[in-house]
Amino acid sequence: MVLDNLGSSLKDALKKLANSSKIDKEVIDDVVKDIQRALIQADVNVKLVMKLSNQIKNRALTEAPPAGMNSKEHVLRIVYTELVNIVGKATPIKLEPQTIMMVGLQGSGKTTTTAKLARYFARKGLKPAVICADTYRPGAYDQLSQLCTKLGVTFYGERDNKDAVSIVRNGLKEIAKYDIKIVDTAGRHALETDLIQEMKDIYGLTDFDHKFLVLDAAIGQQASEQAKTFNEAIGITGVVITKLDGTAKGGGALSAVSDTNTSIAFIGVGETPEDLERFDPDGFISRLLGMGDLKALVEKANEVLTKDDVNLDRMMTGKFTLNDMYSQLEAINKMGPLKQIMSMLPLGGLGGNITDDMYKVTQDKLKGYKIIMDSMTGEEKEDPKLIGSSRISRISRGSGKTPDEVRELLKYHKMMQKAVKGMKGGPGKMNMQKLMK
Ligand code: GDP
Repeated sequence: MVLDNLGSSLKDALKKLANSSKIDKEVIDDVVKDIQRALIQADVNVKLVMKLSNQIKNRALTEAPPAGMNSKEHVLRIVYTELVNIVGKATPIKLEPQTIMMVGLQGSGKTTTTAKLARYFARKGLKPAVICADTYRPGAYDQLSQLCTKLGVTFYGERDNKDAVSIVRNGLKEIAKYDIKIVDTAGRHALETDLIQEMKDIYGLTDFDHKFLVLDAAIGQQASEQAKTFNEAIGITGVVITKLDGTAKGGGALSAVSDTNTSIAFIGVGETPEDLERFDPDGFISRLLGMGDLKALVEKANEVLTKDDVNLDRMMTGKFTLNDMYSQLEAINKMGPLKQIMSMLPLGGLGGNITDDMYKVTQDKLKGYKIIMDSMTGEEKEDPKLIGSSRISRISRGSGKTPDEVRELLKYHKMMQKAVKGMKGGPGKMNMQKLMK
């Protein structure tokens, strides 16, 4: 998940804090040193790390804990708020018609992010269209047009035209009636003058509401130089950090944002169009520290699940058949890998202790349950009480699972049914949270 290594070393540092018998200068120095090491390993630049550690030390040693908070909680809160400070505020995004220009080096994830953004706005009820102005990378045209077809998003491109500026000029006329216009520009392997000139020419064509710089989380310290150059050329309004799912680093990109006084708009956490999250500084840091991010989870649930996936009204009646459980498992699978979902839950210390193996076992179990249920009749699924021992043997034979596995599933269903009965009340977000827990 997002910055796994950084998260676990920060968690270790905070555990030290939690386990110390008293909080004094020595303990604080020690914890701050661990935090420094963790951040530097994740490629956060040294200047920023020093600034952060001085802030933490100063505040921890001079500020008195507020009423009702002990000194450990106080220091923990200082660490948390200072980390939130270094990632800065999120770029404000208005849900209204706008024109967006995407810039970044080749391979940063620009094209993928363009499609992700189109999907993001479409899910919010706005009509997006994209223009492919990447005439440099062979394949960019096909990649974007195929992604758009899949997403049902309008695409404009001119396959044989090498003049990006004229493509954008034509394209903007063509898609004038759309709410969200996203222009995917070309990248290069390095910052070259012709790239900068092309960007400036495109920039001059219309009044862009946003110019998003796409930064690969893994590029490390070079991120700052890139961000500065792009920012000077066209004035970046926000950064999208991509590939945060696949790297131990990411600190370079975070430092670049701080260095250029810009802010993060979105983060990319996977290759598919759904894997884009609105950046939320508090949620990001609390997830990193294993405190969970319920807000992101609820947003994700609301976005991915349709009313048919989880019929809350029906569940509020307390009735919960195997069919309901089946559609719930499907809904959970739709939400993405279990580990990603779990990382958003406030697991406290537990978050760090769940191993990849345990996630895999749970995920496999869910798959097995689905296979077993596929071998049941509709009647059985509506009323599991009908399933006696002879039916268990038949279901076990049909699904290729052992009778014990079938029994386990029935037991699991009973448990879930009990939980559902206990949460009668109006449907809504809070119940969704309870349900996920
Ligand atoms: P472009 O040259 O900047 O347009 O880059 P692409 O959009 O073609 O992306 C380059 C590669 O990075 C592709 O293989 C993408 O699937 C991958 N990619 C983009 N964003 C993400 C992300 O958030 N996570 C992961 N794991 N891969 C990503």
